[in-house]
Amino acid sequence: MRARYHQIEKKLLKWFLTHGRHELPWRQSFAPYEVLVSEFMLQQTTVATIIPRFQEWMQRFPTIEILAEASNESVLSAWQGLGYYARARRLHAVARMIVKDHQGVIPDRLDDLLALPGIGSYTAKAILAFAFDQPVEVLDTNIIRVITRLHNITHAIDSKEGRALLEEDARNMLPSKNGRLFTSALMDLGAMICQAREPSCLVCPLAHECEAEDPRLLPRKKARPTITKKKEQRALYQEGNSVYLEKSCGPLWKGLWILPYCPLLQKPQEMLFSLIYPITRYRVTMEVYRPQGMIPPSLHPFERDALQEIAIASPHRKALARIFHTDHLR
Ligand code: SF4
Repeated sequence: MRARYHQIEKKLLKWFLTHGRHELPWRQSFAPYEVLVSEFMLQQTTVATIIPRFQEWMQRFPTIEILAEASNESVLSAWQGLGYYARARRLHAVARMIVKDHQGVIPDRLDDLLALPGIGSYTAKAILAFAFDQPVEVLDTNIIRVITRLHNITHAIDSKEGRALLEEDARNMLPSKNGRLFTSALMDLGAMICQAREPSCLVCPLAHECEAEDPRLLPRKKARPTITKKKEQRALYQEGNSVYLEKSCGPLWKGLWILPYCPLLQKPQEMLFSLIYPITRYRVTMEVYRPQGMIPPSLHPFERDALQEIAIASPHRKALARIFHTDHLR
């Protein structure tokens, strides 16, 4: 078995040196702070979306100390367009704790990383592999797909048995050194060759070692909960050049500005915009109306030109951008 793993490592690294995504901005220096930021951004957001945003972030918060000192509002504002704002809050909290408890030095031990708020097993191991070159199993979507197919794991990977098999195979495959190269190579093979719908087995460097019987059926997952449709009506209050928003108290979009719920519609009113957005297990149709009557005193006025400076929840930002015909709201 060791000989097979050695072959996989050798072929994988050879392929990666020629074909890997070496140009990704967070792979230039592998500085721990850059790895930390990229790992938070990469959770649930595509690489293509992140590339320009990562560079902007590094210009705005070039060190962990500068990020730790920044205000919540400026961090959330810089995160706009990346979605799932809880990640920005957690990254900010992690930066503050690393500055306070670790003198600004990102820890290189699993236990220390896991003790930080918002850093789970995946992120901790990704930091160890990419920032500190340690051989640890990093199980992101791309790597899971490659390993599941290479070893023809047919159990659902979100089941206890499937996860245990996956972790065991991932650990067995690890080389004794070159954790960064090996993890990057597996990740890129999944992103570029061993793709979900159409794996390019004919050009795959691991085709000879691969045991997948029908790779397009792998990895398997347990049946998903059904998606429920919901409708919500929001209000756009305006007075002169001012737009009125409320700050969400959460748990959804906590701390972000949102359009308030629309009061009960007594008579037909002008619908300005509607859009559909997915969230958790819901598919929400959001309709934005221009209500009549008093502006609730709990709302906060913003000049229209100042909207781009504040952190607005993604669907609400999109609605405002479309209603005002601007793309300045990211
Ligand atoms: S041979 Fe096909 S299924 Fe197997 S690892 Fe390569 S691309 Fe994936």
